[in-house]
Amino acid sequence: DRLVSPHVSDEEQILEGSLRPRRLAEYIGQEKIKENLGILLEAARRRNEPVDHVLLYGPPGLGKTTLCNIIAAEMGVNLKTTAGPAIEHAGDLASILTSLQPGEVLFIDEVHRLSRAVEERLYSAMEDFALDVVIGKGPSARSLRLSLPPFTVVGATTRVGSLTAPLRDRFGAIYRMEYYDIDSLRMIVQRSASILKVPANDEGISEIASRARGTPRIVNRLLKRVRDYAQVRADGVITREVAQKALNAMEVDEIGLDLTDRNMLLTIINKFNGGPVGLDTLAASTSEDSETIEDVYEPYLLQLGFIARTPRGRVAMRAAYDHLNLTPPGGESG
Ligand code: ADP
Repeated sequence: DRLVSPHVSDEEQILEGSLRPRRLAEYIGQEKIKENLGILLEAARRRNEPVDHVLLYGPPGLGKTTLCNIIAAEMGVNLKTTAGPAIEHAGDLASILTSLQPGEVLFIDEVHRLSRAVEERLYSAMEDFALDVVIGKGPSARSLRLSLPPFTVVGATTRVGSLTAPLRDRFGAIYRMEYYDIDSLRMIVQRSASILKVPANDEGISEIASRARGTPRIVNRLLKRVRDYAQVRADGVITREVAQKALNAMEVDEIGLDLTDRNMLLTIINKFNGGPVGLDTLAASTSEDSETIEDVYEPYLLQLGFIARTPRGRVAMRAAYDHLNLTPPGGESG
């Protein structure tokens, strides 16, 4: 699997569980969100009400699930977890909602993938804490309005643009997760290394942080791989040299791009003359699926300014040519 893969194995889930910050104060980075969320939580606590519904969006691995766990912990309530595709029928939603205790947090991952029928039921549940259920079939069917205890929905999504407007409007707070800056990533590596009891010096930590694409999940993955390398090929301590050797061996470059990223950039540059190239064409010629390119691989390349989205497709930017040591068409590489 690629380091950037959104897929989390069972084994990795256990590791991630052990590395997850539990409280807001332990959560590193995302300062703006932390401040606003802190106020939201405090206000709800003072009013003795459940927190307003919260929508978190951004690329995988940036800490949405972690933040949701923190919301429940800070409010001292339980968390129930589900995902858009797991709630197939309105009946599934009804059984989840009617099992909630007052104030509980319901985490809906991939909230953009709820079916229309389920989503429509969710509106009144979120707004009025009421659920309309239909009992019976045919002419004798009747609709019944059940009242629910107040609760909080935390929705997470990698594509906020796919959410319908009425669903988006049901969330009182909407937070966009940003890629982490290098200092935050260093702090995360340091924290994880100390939890895992992996000896690492500052330079080794910096090296890992700078190749992690601004993403805590990737930082932790890199740390784990570098630790293995340090134990097998060195004396167990993560230094700059050890980290560099380990990451070079994995073909992760100084800014965290891997072979597939470089291949994608080279495809745009060499096969399509720098673009524009449509997403589907790009997907076909790199054997990746277009949704994954759009949600997972591409956002970081956009953030770096390596590619741009245009109405006619993706275009390689000068920074990408520079990084790959290529000359952009019509100009010397800077
Ligand atoms: P998402 O739900 O956005 O895909 P997760 O919340 O599962 O991301 O985060 C992935 C892992 O990264 C977590 O297990 C946690 O160990 C780590 N992590 C995420 N955000 C932070 C943070 N702000 N500080 C420290 N570690 C974090």
